[in-house]
Amino acid sequence: MFLMKSIRDIYKIGKGPSSSHTMGPERAAKLFKSQYPDAEHYQVILYGSLSKTGVGHGTDRVIREVLSPAPTEIIFSEEDLPHSHPNTMDLIAFAGDSVQGGLRVESIGGGDIRIPGQPGAAESPEVYAENTAADVMAYCREHGLTRISDYVEHYEGAEIWDFLDTVWKTMKNAIAEGLEGSGILPGGLNVKKRAKKLYTLCVPDETPQLWETRILSAYAFAVSEQNADNGTVVTAPTCGACGVLPAVLRYMQETRNLTDEQILRGLATAGIIGNLTKRNASVSGAECGCQAEIGTACAMAAAALGELFGNTLVQVEYAAEVAMEHHLGLTCDPICGLVQIPCIERNAVGALRALNACNLSYFLSDSRNISYDMVCKAMYETGLNLSHMYKETSEGGLARIYPTRLEKMMAELPKC
Ligand code: SF4
Repeated sequence: MFLMKSIRDIYKIGKGPSSSHTMGPERAAKLFKSQYPDAEHYQVILYGSLSKTGVGHGTDRVIREVLSPAPTEIIFSEEDLPHSHPNTMDLIAFAGDSVQGGLRVESIGGGDIRIPGQPGAAESPEVYAENTAADVMAYCREHGLTRISDYVEHYEGAEIWDFLDTVWKTMKNAIAEGLEGSGILPGGLNVKKRAKKLYTLCVPDETPQLWETRILSAYAFAVSEQNADNGTVVTAPTCGACGVLPAVLRYMQETRNLTDEQILRGLATAGIIGNLTKRNASVSGAECGCQAEIGTACAMAAAALGELFGNTLVQVEYAAEVAMEHHLGLTCDPICGLVQIPCIERNAVGALRALNACNLSYFLSDSRNISYDMVCKAMYETGLNLSHMYKETSEGGLARIYPTRLEKMMAELPKC
């Protein structure tokens, strides 16, 4: 049984567009380069989802960048590796024609990597003694802690606030830069940046509900578009889902006049929800579909909102549960392997749903039937049973239905 690691593991600052397909492989390549710094050339074989959507996610680009100046051959393998994580890669170092050594690495989501057969070799240490939401709640009750953020400080020490301050500053920066963005996102899908437009539609005299929808969406779009444009973002819990949590936190800060210090409390609570999901289920779209990414982001955001509204521990946990429950079964089908459609809009919808989940939990937590631990288990089982077509392979759903660029060009040609 694994115990929870630091919430630093949930929040990683780096460049988009994908934590599992760019940040994870980047870490793997750095680790391998440190082991074989004098290699004359490298070969990297990508399997599963890394192979199928690696080009759209920039996997090959980031690996070549890290291993340069030595040249790197990238192989997008069709081979099915049974019993391996869907994001597996082999790295091989060469001196002339001789193999110096190799390493198999799994990119397990949220920028984390694992070396099969070497538990802990590439992973951070466990920090918390609890491993389920029920245990966290029991610990808080036993020790008189009324907020999950107090539980975080208890285990991680006061220095966690400096770390979370950097996280929050990076999130705010991503919002600010994203709201200034214009033009077309890279990748060839011709997707326009729309955060700025949504933001300019937020006028003071509209109805509060419209304003709320637009402002939350504008912030979520801003961060997600930064991610799709290879900008700097924070995984929460992944790059693909990085817009949900910053959007609700910024919304809360503005509407409730909260200080940055108060916002950090929301981040701490959200971090524990992300942590619980990572330990007991998955935050990897390639392993469990989008329910593991946007579902987890929404649960984190709903819990953060609960903390910032001053709700009870039970209400906060229930907010996370409601948020996750209604994402069960959500597929991952990014068109052309790019983190753009459906990902960007989905972040906005996730932010709106987080607010609804928090509101619902406030009134109904005393009559609830499902716990966060139960919904996590259901999400994981559902994810394992989902067809591979719906787990970041771009072989099913919208990715299959959407006409290819060539088909679109042909359809637009004049008929003779
Ligand atoms: S569809 Fe969801 S899980 Fe898949 S890449 Fe987009 S945000 Fe990530």
